[in-house]
Amino acid sequence: MNKTQTFECEICKDAEFIVVNKPIYTEKENGISKEIYGPVAEPCKCRELKYYKRILEGSGISEVFQSKTIREYIPKNDKQKQSKAMAIEYINNFHIIRSQRNNSLGITGQPGSGKTHLTIAISNELLRRGIGVLYLQYREVMTQLKQVINDDEQYQMQMNRFKSAPLLLIDDLFKGAIRDGKVNESEMRIMFELINHRYLKQLPVLVSSEYNINKMIDFDDATGSRIAEMCKGRTIDLIGKELNHRMI
Ligand SMILES: [Zn+2]
Repeated sequence: MNKTQTFECEICKDAEFIVVNKPIYTEKENGISKEIYGPVAEPCKCRELKYYKRILEGSGISEVFQSKTIREYIPKNDKQKQSKAMAIEYINNFHIIRSQRNNSLGITGQPGSGKTHLTIAISNELLRRGIGVLYLQYREVMTQLKQVINDDEQYQMQMNRFKSAPLLLIDDLFKGAIRDGKVNESEMRIMFELINHRYLKQLPVLVSSEYNINKMIDFDDATGSRIAEMCKGRTIDLIGKELNHRMI
């Protein structure tokens, strides 16, 4: 067969590992130490990206959203037009933005407002450009974390992934965290730990939520105000389909 094989990663030919020549031990010869080289298997740089892609693909998010692109997002009003422009600006300048104080982006609004489409599309495009974006579905992850909250090792292991990902997409932040007007205190503590860590390390977040930034500050001042600062200059509150219908 002379079919040309194509690989997603030309470096490792999709093996996700590469063999490199590295010093494996030191030998002493006449009092002079000499490093002996040998082949060592190392994870390829594409491995982390593939891990993030698998999480997004394996998440509860429907396939319809998984492959969404910015181009497919058709704005229906001025706010949606602004949010599309904001998303494009963020993607194109991410390499500069990521190391700044205000390095994050937040799109809030009701279901059907397009916030999920846009934040997933940003993630897909940045993943395609080699940026590790970890997907965190708020409701699902909160349930998981609360199950292991008394198991320090398990809890820290799960939290560390979210704390250290190059870019973290928090989908539907605070969904189900407010019951009868009261906020769930343990969820607020978990989110503060996570957001505060990323805030101090200047690691960006992409946030989608049905609650706008002011409401987030109302729920928890410490977490909400950090999100507000991280997303400064890049937050949009969209109006959903429901409200559009009501306005007609
Ligand atoms: Zn590779």
